[in-house]
Amino acid sequence: MQAGKLVVLTGPSGVGKGTLLRSLLQRHPDLYVSISVTTRAPRPGEVDGQHYYFVNRTEFERMVAGGELLEWAEFAGNYYGTPRLAVEQQVQQGKCVILEIELEGARQVRQTFPTAFRIFILPPSLNELEFRIRNRGQDSEDAIARRLQRARAEIDAASEFDIQIINDDFEKALTEIEAALLAPVHCYSA
Ligand code: 5GP
Repeated sequence: MQAGKLVVLTGPSGVGKGTLLRSLLQRHPDLYVSISVTTRAPRPGEVDGQHYYFVNRTEFERMVAGGELLEWAEFAGNYYGTPRLAVEQQVQQGKCVILEIELEGARQVRQTFPTAFRIFILPPSLNELEFRIRNRGQDSEDAIARRLQRARAEIDAASEFDIQIINDDFEKALTEIEAALLAPVHCYSA
């Protein structure tokens, strides 16, 4: 059996990665999107085991110590990480596995999985990003400030990635991701 591919999707919080990913999955249900573990509290409507596995810090630290995470990082005061086992199993089964993660995690994956294809999603501008985060209405003023500060640092690192896609026009951005997964990565056929 041919081994699958690992794809990393990174970009500042609020850039629209999650929405792009959901649309991509609708078009290509064979893709496998990894479910992360986090110590962040669930937002309204988020379901444990579907959006994230929600755990406390002690449990997260136990997973780190036990080598259960492929990568992990602290983001805006919370821990986030990718469970290793599910990803490795899916890649072995030939699936195209997508990790939607922040910059530090993407850098770790580059070390452990050098063949991973890494995509960076950019906002049209920082002002637009702030507007989107506020419009989402899910974060406190303090969390918004921390997310914007982190966004600046992440955007500066966009050139480290294999491709950069600006999420200005949603359909255009989606088509660009789709094209990248088709040709350079061969996640599916045309
Ligand atoms: P949010 O709290 O908005 O769901 O996510 C905050 C940030 O954490 C986003 O940039 C998201 O991509 C990132 N993130 C989600 N899961 C993981 C993970 O497993 N590992 C890492 N490193 N970042 C993650």
